[in-house]
Parts: sequence; structure tokens; C-alpha cells
Amino acid sequence: MQTQLTWYGQAAFKINTTTGKILLIDPWLTNPSFPGGEAELARLDRVDLILLTHGHGDHVGNAVEIGKRAGATLVSNFDLKAVMVSVLGYPESQAPNETAGHLGGELSLLGGEVKVQFVPAWHGSSIQKEENAAPIYAGNPTGLIITVHDGPVIYHTGDTDLFSDMALMKRFHKIDVMLVCIGDHYTMGPARAAEAVKLVAPKTVIPMHYGTFPLLTGTPEAFGRELKKRRSKSQLRVLKSGETIKLDSKLRR
Ligand SMILES: [Zn+2]
Repeated sequence: MQTQLTWYGQAAFKINTTTGKILLIDPWLTNPSFPGGEAELARLDRVDLILLTHGHGDHVGNAVEIGKRAGATLVSNFDLKAVMVSVLGYPESQAPNETAGHLGGELSLLGGEVKVQFVPAWHGSSIQKEENAAPIYAGNPTGLIITVHDGPVIYHTGDTDLFSDMALMKRFHKIDVMLVCIGDHYTMGPARAAEAVKLVAPKTVIPMHYGTFPLLTGTPEAFGRELKKRRSKSQLRVLKSGETIKLDSKLRR
């Protein structure tokens, strides 16, 4: 069995590992670009881990509901975990300190089957109990480097601008798949995202965080042009929301 990756739109992904573990990242399944969100939400009755990059609503999404129903353990930085439990009511027993790290730390999870490293992202992070409620501090935003045992190394940028320290990531990980925000307005747009790809040098790059709202104007076409301009060797793979792809266990260069 191969590792499988599903994009749900915006920054939401599902990873199925080779041994059948299920990980969700930033699980806003009921986003406007994924019409099948409600049905998929109902189908998810067993989830092992929910990984969050930061506290904004388009990333926390349906996390609490899924956590309560599907028993998922929360993986995030310490500050975000604290407000997920105390403000949004994520089950405390499913958010232990063992799965709450912070920038620079790498956690070994599910008996070593998955490793998650928290890396910087230039953005904000707060939790709102409901729309227009006062935002509550949720720590620093992060990106995530997910190493799947017998599978690929996946870098989810979270929401971020380009930063030169992205070039340091390849000293520690050979990134197979980079999930990169390209939507502009709240994050980097296509040109800066293409520059980020040059720094990280992944084998494959999948754009995300675009097209969900009219404000997110970056497109995969513009991103592709910017990658070409920079003679990027990374392979661009554009997914439709709801699409699942298989990732080779040996995606190494
Ligand atoms: Zn966002």
C-alpha cells in the first residue's frame, strides 16, 4: 500500500499512511471550494491525528467536531493546543503534552510511524470562539514537516510569506512534497511562493490556499509560470478539491 494524499481545498489535507493510519491537516472540510465536505465529514469515523498549523478559522475548521467524533489526537504547538482545549472545547484527553510541541521540535508519533517537526511561518495566529468575537492569543503560527515511515517527507507551509530560512530545511530533510500557499492577500502569492519552492527544492509541489474566496487571487497557472521563469526543477502537481493521489514510498532523488 502506498501513502495517499487527499486535498480538501484551502489548507486541508488527509494523509493515509501505508499501515492505514489517518492524519488530517488543517481540516476545514466544509469550505466553499469543496462541495463534498459535509459528506466526507460524516464518513470520517476514525482519525488518528489532527495537525494544526495555526488558530485561524479556515485552518481549525471542523477539528473539534472531528476530534470528538473520530477520537483524533491533536498535534499543534503548545499555545494553540491550550486554547483549542480551553476555548473551543477540544477533548483534553486527546490533546496531551506529548503531542504538543513547538518551533524546532520534532515529535515522534504513532509509535514512530510519523514524525512531525514544527517550523516557522510568517503569519498570525488567534482563535475566535465565533465570528466577530475578540481574537484570543494562540501562539506563533507554524509550518509542518511530516515524515511518514516508509513514505514521503511532506512540508505543509501553513500560511506564510516567503522567508530566506526556508533554505535551511533541506539541510535536515529531503522534502518530497511541498504543500505551498499561493493565494496572495493573506499569504505569499504565486511569485513569492515560486521563490519559496526554489529555496526548499522539493521533488513535487502542490499549490493550496487559493480560490476559496474571491480575495485569494493567486492561481495555479500564474504559479506555474513563476516556477518556469525561475527554472524550478520541482514538479508542479495541481489537485482538484476532493482529489486523492498516491505518493511513492521512494520519492527520493
Ligand atoms: Zn488561512
